[in-house]
Amino acid sequence: MVRDRFAPSPTGNVHVGSLRTALYNYLYAKKMGGEFLLRLEDTDQTRLEHGAVENLLDALNMTGVIPDEGLIKEKGNVIQKGQHGPYIQSQRLDIYKKYIDQLLEQGQAYYCFCTKDRLEEVRNAQKEKNETPKYDGKCRALTKEEIAANIEAGLPYTVRLKLPENHVITFDDLVRGVIEMNTNDLDDQVLLKADGFPTYHLAVVVDDHLMGITHVIRGEEWLPSTPKHAYLYECFGWEMPHFVHLPNILNDDRKKLSKRQGDVSVGDFLAKGYLPEALINFLALLGWSPENEQEIFSMEELIQAFDLSRINKSGAVFDRAKLNWMNAHYIKELPIEALVMQLTPFLINAGVITQEEVAAKQEWLFKVAEILRERIEYFAQAPQELEMIFKSDFIIEDEEALVLLSEESSKRLYQALIAKIEATSVLDAARGKAILKEIQKEEKIKGKMLFMPSRIMITGEMHGPDLTLIMDVLGKDEVLSRIKSVAS
Ligand code: GLU
Repeated sequence: MVRDRFAPSPTGNVHVGSLRTALYNYLYAKKMGGEFLLRLEDTDQTRLEHGAVENLLDALNMTGVIPDEGLIKEKGNVIQKGQHGPYIQSQRLDIYKKYIDQLLEQGQAYYCFCTKDRLEEVRNAQKEKNETPKYDGKCRALTKEEIAANIEAGLPYTVRLKLPENHVITFDDLVRGVIEMNTNDLDDQVLLKADGFPTYHLAVVVDDHLMGITHVIRGEEWLPSTPKHAYLYECFGWEMPHFVHLPNILNDDRKKLSKRQGDVSVGDFLAKGYLPEALINFLALLGWSPENEQEIFSMEELIQAFDLSRINKSGAVFDRAKLNWMNAHYIKELPIEALVMQLTPFLINAGVITQEEVAAKQEWLFKVAEILRERIEYFAQAPQELEMIFKSDFIIEDEEALVLLSEESSKRLYQALIAKIEATSVLDAARGKAILKEIQKEEKIKGKMLFMPSRIMITGEMHGPDLTLIMDVLGKDEVLSRIKSVAS
């Protein structure tokens, strides 16, 4: 059975690239009727951030990328579920110790007592000679007695992988094909750090093996590490999982996606009012493409269509305009109740409406939501869009608008609008439409000469959402007062 995993380090906000990795693992497991795990890789104790785990699990729950096994948040509680736990690496130190001891016994690893200062000196000397920095192997040749004495003396140590010379390591990447690497080009990787924690490289191999992982699907940035992992599988005599390295996500300038060019964390996108479905749909197409031209996919459709062989090798540009287009599509499709529910917090935040008013103003909110549905790409744009409608103290400065208002027909339009609106009891969209029609007939004012001056009088703008909808949400008194103040 296919078992794959998402193995993040809890280092703060969840990057969209991490969500994509989780998503591809999820899609593949679901497609194959397999299992998707979440394991927390927290062996770098210097990088832990408070709240990161909750953040991570919340992002997965909100986007529907939910693990079957491992670390999970259920009913508000973070739990570990499954037969292969613990799923938090800092709780597995004894397990790693056992495998490090095995490598030491097999002569495939060695104690290293070099101090940070010495390592730094070696590195600097190599850099000066334009050589690739690499451990110089000083501790490889220590005798048993020397090692025992150093440990006895309480010297801090690490354990390093003892790579054989001139040995070719091979592994198969399902997307990139067979990759070969000579050990002469690799460093004797630290496996156990001085603080007693394993490094990522040791822990990832031990855990993927013990947890029965069949497919390792992860970002391209891990590709240079994979030969080291492949060699560890060799040392332990374990069968290697299949590897798939996902292409980098790039900015428009084809450099790696960075915060300098805009949001990169899942939380930021959700907070701005991107819908989880849209984000998932967008990320699914960032490095993978379906067989046909389809662009809009539900999660269920993605599971059906997903295929590892259609993952691209080259970097995928994070096209923000496309994400916006996609999100706008999902907004247009939302049932009105859901749209109102999503929009309301943004309107409260911007002071358009208060929490207390929400219940009483439901009908009004539905109308506002319909106006906004066609006009926004994500919810955080809503207040700005609405400002145009609710700003009553506008000043008309646009040359073209002023010319239009000074036309003789606009004077008649102004009189007719006031008379007809005053005469009506409720000004809703239907009544607004009827009034404009009547004026068209009676005053013989048509098209642009009818709609533009009306819009300018009511909103101060030349363009905008359907005018009759605006009349509806503003109501009779507000519309009247605006028209009157423009003409006075
Ligand atoms: N802990 C690594 C990360 O933070 C996981 C890499 C892998 O999937 O092997 O991305």
